[in-house]
Amino acid sequence: MKELTPDLSEVLDMLAFMELGPEFQLTLDEIHALSERLIFEGERDELSRPISEIKEVASDLGENWLICPLCQEAWRNQLTYPMLFCPKCSAKIHNPAFTARE
Ligand SMILES: [Zn+2]
Repeated sequence: MKELTPDLSEVLDMLAFMELGPEFQLTLDEIHALSERLIFEGERDELSRPISEIKEVASDLGENWLICPLCQEAWRNQLTYPMLFCPKCSAKIHNPAFTARE
């Protein structure tokens, strides 16, 4: 069992607060990956504008839950950039919340 950082504890509290089905149970490694994405500042520039060459859009399940169209990974997105990284396969895909606002 890995040690939880304060950031990870917050993510865990947030996840525990939601009433989710078994399909949304995340492993500790997945939560680590998610947290790394949330706190990785360097991605902002890369994600801050839509990339027309990329056609894939994450499926929106509501409540900020998204599914990657490439690997079917489901994760809860906290970012509001036009582009997102899948926490599992690291593919760059469009944020459906952003495209809906356009
Ligand atoms: Zn993926």
